[in-house]
Amino acid sequence: MSVASYGMTDVGRRRDSNEDAFLEDDDLRLYAVADGMGGHAAGEVASSLAIETLAATLRAALSRPIGSDVDRAEQLLRSAVADANRKICESVHGRDEWRGMGTTVVAALLVGEQAVVAHVGDSRAYLLHDRSLARLTSDHSWVSEQVRLGLLSEDDAHRHPMRNIVTRALGNRDDVDIEVGRSRIQPGDVFVLCSDGLNTMLTDDEIRDALLSHPGDARRACEALVDAANERGGEDNTTVVVVQVRWPG
Ligand code: CA
Repeated sequence: MSVASYGMTDVGRRRDSNEDAFLEDDDLRLYAVADGMGGHAAGEVASSLAIETLAATLRAALSRPIGSDVDRAEQLLRSAVADANRKICESVHGRDEWRGMGTTVVAALLVGEQAVVAHVGDSRAYLLHDRSLARLTSDHSWVSEQVRLGLLSEDDAHRHPMRNIVTRALGNRDDVDIEVGRSRIQPGDVFVLCSDGLNTMLTDDEIRDALLSHPGDARRACEALVDAANERGGEDNTTVVVVQVRWPG
């Protein structure tokens, strides 16, 4: 199958800087979104460092093609995210102004008929298949822990004042816990990565509807999602990468 992607990031309506960063590379089938934190200069440094490290590490590793070796893809993705974590931790060392600097990351490699997704924090991956939208990642956040424990409903979590608190991030500790999963992808599917600026402004149903309104057009789907988040208030930076999976040719 073939892929066509589009990615964009937008500062939103309330913030004066954009601490998100993203990567989309259809040749390597490598996609990522990072959402920095720690005050705006530090947040920008952390998310761009994460994206640059992922891109450099994986471009080098994938110069030898891995075909549809999903185990290898998982290994490469995991070690690239660990590299990014190490780079950020090293940058924080000894610099008081960058204390507390960190970033989320969600990164995906599409190999054969599988999407391998690695994530830390609350940036998400979704898959639209057969008109239904599945969340491929579970947020490493305080509210989502409360949901898993049955102490908050999804609706409460969506509106909760502490919904921005992440429980895992790159840049906080040397041995970061990276969650990796795999999902089958098929022609006609739409694969999405986003920062929480999208999914705190829109529900999953609204994200699905925006994707369904622009079938086969990654760019317009992406723009529709960012516009919708801004119309809803644009309280945060919004970053979206949309990948259309197609039949070959
Ligand atoms: Ca954010």
